[in-house]
Amino acid sequence: INILAIESSCDETSASVISDGKILNNIVATQSVHEKYGGVVPELASRAHQQHLVPVIHEAIETSGIDKKDLSAVAFTRGPGLMGSLMVGVSFAKSFAYSLGIPLIEVNHMEAHILAHFIDDPKPDFPFICLTVSGGHTQLVLVKDHLEMEVIGETLDDAVGEAFDKTAKLMGLPYPGGPLIDKYAKEGNPKAFAFPVSDMPELNYSFSGIKTAVLYFLRDKIKENPQFIEENTADICASVQYTLIKMLTQKLKKAAKLHRVKNIAIAGGVSANSGLREELNRLAADLNWKVYIPKFEYCTDNAAMIAMAAHYKFLSNSFCGLDTSPLAKMKIGN
Ligand code: ATP
Ligand code: MG
Ligand code: FE
Repeated sequence: INILAIESSCDETSASVISDGKILNNIVATQSVHEKYGGVVPELASRAHQQHLVPVIHEAIETSGIDKKDLSAVAFTRGPGLMGSLMVGVSFAKSFAYSLGIPLIEVNHMEAHILAHFIDDPKPDFPFICLTVSGGHTQLVLVKDHLEMEVIGETLDDAVGEAFDKTAKLMGLPYPGGPLIDKYAKEGNPKAFAFPVSDMPELNYSFSGIKTAVLYFLRDKIKENPQFIEENTADICASVQYTLIKMLTQKLKKAAKLHRVKNIAIAGGVSANSGLREELNRLAADLNWKVYIPKFEYCTDNAAMIAMAAHYKFLSNSFCGLDTSPLAKMKIGN
């Protein structure tokens, strides 16, 4: 089974070829046009996908050593994501599959973030709980099988990646600010400043409050000392990161206990955060968890995870028709 997979849900154009469950490559073109706007501009994203898609797919096929006519299926991200961005990938996938006379496989981007765990060893045993933390989502997912998962908790407002990025923006740091907060936090004191830890009902999250808290905190401090941010960058970053990680792990611990699961995985761009990784390893030792953290390249948006998901869908005969269309909001299990 050889599958070509395409990812274009947000601002990364990516293609990957998977052969009998083994990822052969993962070509990613990151769009830099958004940096100066401090966030992804949807219209520019879809235009950049149009420019990048053909060269990226060409490179994926070339470097895979697999001939186009030996492809068994074409897979694509159907959603969730930006409508214009998804449209580019979906349209291309449809026409490519049609021209080769091979089936189409639609993939849910959030399921794929989780299935990235099956690219390399060690692979998690079922059932496991996956904390998916990205720029657009924060979810606790109970994973019973490759294609059987259930959202057991999620954010009721902002995603945690957004909280990282918005804090960075308030501090005057460039987009995306998450990795910079992580970097500065390493030199700072996580207890230097206290920010409120939200506690939503059940296994849900809220990350919109901290953004406002940081906004007012900085405004008041700058009134006293205009150099406050410059002089305290590391401590502010460490304190905000500490608070965000506390909120994430608080519910993760609750979910693990409630569902009596000790296999814990993280997925999504924020799982690159070194503070979160450290805390999870600490909890693993403390609570006897087995913690799974994917390779960085498979944490952020990539087509290898789409290919991995497509492989399992191929095995379960799950194909879609040429009348498929993108879904900006697509639920897990949909
Ligand atoms: P979604 O998958 O929900 O559609 P997305 O694809 O935009 O959203 P990803 O690409 O998975 O999200 O992740 C991007 C997010 O990860 C950004 O918010 C970015 O700031 C954050 N991020 C990346 N590295 C780090 C890090 N080391 N620490 C904190 N945040 C990080
Ligand atoms: Mg992204
Ligand atoms: Fe993503």
